[in-house]
Amino acid sequence: MHAVSDLATVTYCSRQLYYRRDDERELPESVKKRRELAFEYEQLLEADDATLAARPIERTPEAYRGNLRRAKDRLDSWDELADPTHRDVLLSGRECRGIAQKVLEKPLAPSYVSPGSPPKEGVWEPQSVRAVALAKALSWEREQLIERAFVEYPAYGVIREISLTTRRKADYRRAIREIEGMDGPPARLTNSAKCDSCAYRKRCGTRTRSLRSLLGL
Ligand code: SF4
Repeated sequence: MHAVSDLATVTYCSRQLYYRRDDERELPESVKKRRELAFEYEQLLEADDATLAARPIERTPEAYRGNLRRAKDRLDSWDELADPTHRDVLLSGRECRGIAQKVLEKPLAPSYVSPGSPPKEGVWEPQSVRAVALAKALSWEREQLIERAFVEYPAYGVIREISLTTRRKADYRRAIREIEGMDGPPARLTNSAKCDSCAYRKRCGTRTRSLRSLLGL
């Protein structure tokens, strides 16, 4: 059985997963604080500027409230997302286990709460794989077909709903194959922007692209 977080990491970079398994750490306080925002949307919508400024929010108070307001208007599942029945649920499926920060009942769907920033559209690929893995684990436990999941970016007031498309499921299968085939440290990525923000860059010995360009390489 694979950890859902491993699938997300291997989708980003398989070598990073190799390091992380060697170096499991407690969740940083900053991640916990950002995730707390995802359970306070209604209060944050009503909060004044000073209150919002004191929280780990990455937008101006006005822009933040605007993002939440649009999410509330757009999403059928807003009420459950804002006040979920199930929080921090450990899901165990046929192939993976991992924690969904929220499980919605109507209709059944998991939500992964990211401490990071959203892409312009949709969700980042590792998060897509993570969300599919959580949906599959939930589907296995409840013996119900699940065709959607959520990824939330509470520091930005952004919530994205995704469908479990054929492409997303294929990405998930690829991540499973990658983990199962891992034997020793995988190759480094070459000249990838992913390395610029990787916590293992120093240990990995990968130069950032900016240093490469400084050296004219
Ligand atoms: S520095 Fe690059 S190659 Fe090395 S683990 Fe990180 S993302 Fe992977």
